[in-house]
Amino acid sequence: MKILVATEKPFAKKAVDGIRQIVEGAGYELALLEKYTDKSELLSAVADVDALIIRSDKVTAEVIEAARNLKIVVRAGAGYDNVDLVAATARGIVVMNTPGQNSNAVAELALAMMIFMARNGFTPGTGSEIQGKTLGIHAYGNVGRLVGRKGKAMGMNVIAYDPFITDSAVFEADGVKKVNSVEELYKNSDYLSLHIPATEQTKGSIGYDLLMSMPKGATLVNTARKEVIDEQGVMKALTEREDLKYITDIAAGIQSELNEKFGRRVFATAKKMGAETAEANINAGLAAANQIVDFFKNGNTRFQVNK
Ligand code: NAD
Repeated sequence: MKILVATEKPFAKKAVDGIRQIVEGAGYELALLEKYTDKSELLSAVADVDALIIRSDKVTAEVIEAARNLKIVVRAGAGYDNVDLVAATARGIVVMNTPGQNSNAVAELALAMMIFMARNGFTPGTGSEIQGKTLGIHAYGNVGRLVGRKGKAMGMNVIAYDPFITDSAVFEADGVKKVNSVEELYKNSDYLSLHIPATEQTKGSIGYDLLMSMPKGATLVNTARKEVIDEQGVMKALTEREDLKYITDIAAGIQSELNEKFGRRVFATAKKMGAETAEANINAGLAAANQIVDFFKNGNTRFQVNK
């Protein structure tokens, strides 16, 4: 079996060394195509490979056509819209992502941004503490759980809402109180950390009414997805209530516009950076290699996204 790591933006050396160890340890061959500048390099590199590990690299129908032996593509990371799923599925190629590998990075950023906001953006003046405040977690998945546990460790009172987790033990194990509606969650949260995926149900669902229901001085933190926000509604609530605050990791490019309108009550990262840690990149690379080995040896398709 030949496994190709094709990365325009290469993994850290530590990740490549780890991938090599996993691949060669399983008795397979590793090939590397790093920092390629032309699509033709990728097209010729994939010609004889059985498996492909990528980052944001584009696996188009043309790439799939050129990869005659390809059986599996793993996107080291969460999003996989850079892979042509229709073309892959038509050829019976399994496509996977590596969910959860960057969750800790995102969770740390969410907590860090809450403290940043509580301390007036680290500018002089009296701030506040997050200890003793209520942290509401909207969706208790991979990231939400880590934010919940870290919030507890920081002395916060943590509540969470996730209608798809019916087993209360999941919340109890973390000392987190499960609430039964979105309304109850927002109404009681001094800090609201958003971790819902963008689905038909969630798109544009976080807006005016929910924000207006939050306690005095509350902060909305979005490290999830841009699409879930009803931007006009959020802006209207921020305009009407000067005590509300908003932190976002998914609205790059609008910081100065937001600052002009709302001053330091709003903070937007310059570029989506939730998952931007060395550790997250390494974790995702190693997970990709492990998933490929597990697929070839045991037929495990747990993380397949084109089932
Ligand atoms: P996950 O799949 O592990 O968890 C998502 C959770 O959302 C699940 O528990 C599910 O039950 C719940 N859910 C689904 N629909 C819901 C609804 N309508 N109401 C309430 N809960 C609902 O996902 P994750 O890895 O925790 O990621 C969470 C979010 O973070 C996603 O939107 C993801 O795109 C985003 N993310 C952002 C970054 C970043 O760089 N900022 C990085 C990774 C992930």
